[in-house]
Amino acid sequence: MAICILSPEVVSKIAAGEVIERPASVVKELIENSIDAGASEIKVEVRQGGRRLIRVIDDGGGIPAQEVELAFERHSTSKLKDAEDLYHIASLGFRGEALPSIAAVSKVTFVTRTEEQEIGVLLRLEGGKVIKRQKKGAPRGTVVSVEELFFNTPARLKFLRKDSTEARHISHLVTRYALAYPSIRFSLLSEGHTLFRSTGSSSLYDVLIEVYGLETAGQMLEIAPLSVPVPSQRDPKGQGSRGMGEEAEGLKISGHVGAPSLHRASGRYLTILINGRWVRDQLLGYAIKEAYHTLLPKGRHPIAVVRVDLPPQEVDINVHPAKAEVRFRRSGELFAAVQKAVRHTLKGAPIPVVAPPRWAPEPRPPITRRPSPGQMALEVQRTEGMAPSKKIPPLRVLGQLGRTYIIAEGPEGMYLIDQHAAHERVLYERLLSERGKMAVSSQRLLEPLTLDLGSEEAAILEEKLETLRSWGFDLEPFGAQTYLLRAVPAILKGGDLSQAVREMIDEASRQAGRWEEEFVISLACHGAVQAGQTMSEGEMRDLVRQLEETSSPRTCAHGRPTMIHLSAEQLQREFGRS
Ligand code: ADP
Ligand code: MG
Repeated sequence: MAICILSPEVVSKIAAGEVIERPASVVKELIENSIDAGASEIKVEVRQGGRRLIRVIDDGGGIPAQEVELAFERHSTSKLKDAEDLYHIASLGFRGEALPSIAAVSKVTFVTRTEEQEIGVLLRLEGGKVIKRQKKGAPRGTVVSVEELFFNTPARLKFLRKDSTEARHISHLVTRYALAYPSIRFSLLSEGHTLFRSTGSSSLYDVLIEVYGLETAGQMLEIAPLSVPVPSQRDPKGQGSRGMGEEAEGLKISGHVGAPSLHRASGRYLTILINGRWVRDQLLGYAIKEAYHTLLPKGRHPIAVVRVDLPPQEVDINVHPAKAEVRFRRSGELFAAVQKAVRHTLKGAPIPVVAPPRWAPEPRPPITRRPSPGQMALEVQRTEGMAPSKKIPPLRVLGQLGRTYIIAEGPEGMYLIDQHAAHERVLYERLLSERGKMAVSSQRLLEPLTLDLGSEEAAILEEKLETLRSWGFDLEPFGAQTYLLRAVPAILKGGDLSQAVREMIDEASRQAGRWEEEFVISLACHGAVQAGQTMSEGEMRDLVRQLEETSSPRTCAHGRPTMIHLSAEQLQREFGRS
């Protein structure tokens, strides 16, 4: 075949394929246009998962009648003038590609009116060609109706999933934008039924209630304000230009993160918003998960909405046609700042409250039912009442339950403490602090123990020998796969030591990247008093005192809760006293 230049129709279909992948992509582009147009209300309607109809209605600025056709030309935009503008984009759109791309693969009806014009205009396009234009009375703003998406690209059509799946993608998307813009009133209708609605009250917490329900939202913590001094990369000596954390208007991290007691099996509950743009950013996603390290059970994911606002020149959004990925100029500093902000917030996470027991005399109305505004205010107040405090209150030990839990009383009711989890937390922090001073206390064994290892175990051990020394182990090679264990960390008392060492090496090795961290957690776990062990009153008192001293007394090193709390009010309620 000879080389020839593709026809404009083919070019536009290829380009459309990049931006418009599925119905949710259309919704994304239209919502972003409405936000850029300054809308305070955005209504989204879909039929058959968006396949038959997607309609987005806004009350934004509209397009002047004489520019409407132009908006559907490729690379036409009102948001950018020259290449220089690319480096400080403040709008969501700028490529001038969405409307022509959508029009190329569907049948579009576009109605718009600006404040200045008395009558609006209606433009109808099919496969990118204008087939109708007329005057039309309309309120200020824009209504875009997209019908029969992919009617002229059957291959794309075949890739679409079930209507319900496509509708779920759309719903996820609309809720993300509602989280990004709490001051805009969003609604989503599917087949005429309201799937989602936000109030536009400007409060992110209100949107969280709509998206995740009252019970979950009540367990989310507002990210504590944190100023992060970061040295400028351009200026390592700290003279002249400043790092982004130091600029007053520089970097702002805000949002809500779930308390460690709140977690999910999938990672899709992490929402990252960069300058009001919902993005999938692995780096920041990782920073958030890192902040939860040792606080969440293994394999579980946090719920979080983290918003980063930074000067537009600090972020390159022109990386991805659908702008779903971005690049940061100073990603290392940003990573550290986000991790720190989230971690800082989590340190004040509240103790999980016991769920009402199943045998409660009168079933209370389910909390997921939409409360009336008055009721809602009450509920919110109550959840705020158990305000997160960093430390646990001083507790009085009452006894041991099932040789596993310590029963204690505090100023606000009863606490059940998991003896193993609590001790693990205490030992974990003690080990870290001793290690920081290069002074992990070690205990010499009367008789050295012989460790006969498998080849893999021996290889790991050899590689980690120095690290193990720093944690209080004295191991000496004694033949190819044999070691003499001469000393162990003082926290490991009694029991089968060689078995314990083997298990710890094995457990830690399964976590390739963070061997040492896992090893310490495992060490604390092995050193801690186990469930089923009888404890004297004095031992329990000591343990509770030591737990009070730790920096994260509410979770063990693995992220399980160390205690549950039954408040005085709850006791009263359960006994029908209130
Ligand atoms: P971009 O958003 O990248 O500029 P689009 O193709 O999405 O490109 O839109 C082209 C232009 O049409 C925008 O720059 C804007 O001026 C105008 N426009 C699109 N949608 C709306 C809307 N809902 N309200 C007002 N103007 C709009
Ligand atoms: Mg756009």
